[in-house]
Amino acid sequence: MSESGPCHKPSQGDVLIIGAGIHGLSTAFHLAQRGVKVTVLEADYCGRHASGVNAGGVRTLGRHTPEIPLTLASRELWHELKHVLADDGGFVPSGQLKLAESQAEWDECRQRVAQLQALGFSHEVLVDQQQVFEIIPTVARHVVGGIWVKDDGYAVPYKAVTAFRLAAQRLGVQIHENTPAQRIEQAGTRWNVSTPKGTFIGEHLVITAGAWAGELAAQIGEPVPVHPEGLMLMVTHRVAPFCVPVLGATGRALSFKQFENGTVVIGGKLIGSLDFPARHGEVDMTRLGTSARTVTDLFPHLKNLGVNRVWAGVEAFTADDLPVIGASRKASSLSYSFGFCGSGFQMGPGTGRRLAQQILGEHSDISLAPFAIDRFEKATVAAALSTLQPASTIPQH
Ligand SMILES: Cc1cc2nc3c(=O)[nH]c(=O)nc-3n(C[C@H](O)[C@H](O)[C@H](O)COP(=O)(O)OP(=O)(O)OC[C@H]3O[C@@H](n4cnc5c(N)ncnc54)[C@H](O)[C@@H]3O)c2cc1C
Repeated sequence: MSESGPCHKPSQGDVLIIGAGIHGLSTAFHLAQRGVKVTVLEADYCGRHASGVNAGGVRTLGRHTPEIPLTLASRELWHELKHVLADDGGFVPSGQLKLAESQAEWDECRQRVAQLQALGFSHEVLVDQQQVFEIIPTVARHVVGGIWVKDDGYAVPYKAVTAFRLAAQRLGVQIHENTPAQRIEQAGTRWNVSTPKGTFIGEHLVITAGAWAGELAAQIGEPVPVHPEGLMLMVTHRVAPFCVPVLGATGRALSFKQFENGTVVIGGKLIGSLDFPARHGEVDMTRLGTSARTVTDLFPHLKNLGVNRVWAGVEAFTADDLPVIGASRKASSLSYSFGFCGSGFQMGPGTGRRLAQQILGEHSDISLAPFAIDRFEKATVAAALSTLQPASTIPQH
C-alpha cells in the first residue's frame, strides 16, 4: 500500500483503513498480526476524537442484547491487553455497579437480570442494599440495590489508543495523520482513496471514521441513518479515595468513576452541542449541572468539590442505537465499523478482532448479523410493505 503519484508505486493485497480511533487501530493491529499489510489514513491525529476523549468505561453492564456476545468477547481482550499489546491501556478491572434508587428501579433491575438469565447470560448479578453498601460504603443510604458486574472496569482512553497505535506500528502498519480521505472510488479490484496528500490504493477498504463514516458510506450509495452528537464529560479536583467501581444509575443519566489519582470523571451520555463542520463538540453547563446534582445526591460529601475541566467529544449515533459492523452490501472488498452510540470504547478491542476475521474470510464464533448495514433499508422496506397489506389482513378494532 502506498500513495500513488510520480514517486509512489502502489502494491497489492493490502488493506486501507480510514479513521484512526480505537476501531481503526484495533482492526489494523489484528490484521497486521495475521501478516496483512495495512495503511491507516487519519484526518487529524490518532485518537483525536471520541476514542481519545471518552470516559474510559469498559462496560458490558446494561448492553442491548444483540451487543452482549461481542462486548463479552471484547472484555476478555481488555483483561489480556497487557499481554497482547505489551501495554494495559490503563485498564483497571474495578467492576461496574448500576444503582437502583427506588423500589420501581429495583424491580426494573430484577426484571433485567431475569431476562438476561433466560437468554443464558449470567454476567449481570443482582445485588441488594447491603451488598451495595459493602461494595461502596460511602454511597447515600436511599439506594435500595443494583446490578453488579465484577469483571467490568475502566481504562485510560488516550493510553489505550496509543497502545493499539504503537503495537500496530511495531507490526509494520503505516499510519498517515493529517490525511483526510476525500473521495473513495472502486476501480476494478482496487479502491482509490483521494486525499490532499495524493491517492492511496488498496484491495480492501475499511471505514472506521466514527461520526464521519456515514458521509463516506453515502459516497458509494450505501446511506445509513447515523448522526453526530457532542457528548460531554467533566472531571473534578482530586479527592481522597471513596469509590472503587464505576457507577451508573437506573433512573438517571450517570456514569461516574474515581481514577487512582483521586479525580472523579462524571458523564453518562450527556448531550452537549456540536459544530460538526469544525469537527468540534461544545459543553452545555446547564445540563452538566444536572449531572453534578445526581452525583451529590449519591455522594453528599462531594458537594463542595470543584470541577477542574469540562469537554465534549464527537460521537456517532445510529437510528436503532446499535453500531454498523461488517461487510458492505453494495460493494465488494469494503467493510465498516462505526456508529457506536456512546459505548464503543469498550468494544474496540473485540470488534477490531472480529472485523479482521470478516475481512480475512475466517469463521468467527460471534455473528456480526445484528450489525449489518442493510438492516435499516430492510426495516424501511418491511414498514412500507406492511402499509400495503390487503384490507382483509388488517386487524379490525
Ligand atoms: C464524551 C464521551 C464519553 C464516552 N464514554 C464512553 C465510555 O465510557 N465507554 C465506552 O465504551 N464508550 C464511550 N464513548 C464512546 C466511544 O468513545 C466511541 O464509541 C468510540 O471511541 C468510537 O470509536 P471510533 O474509532 O469508531 O471513532 P473515533 O474515535 O471518532 O475515530 C474515528 C476517526 O476517524 C477520523 N476520520 C473521520 N473522517 C475521516 C476521513 N474522511 N479521513 C480520515 N480520517 C477520518 C476521525 O478524525 C477520527 O479520528 C464516549 C464518547 C464520548 C464522546
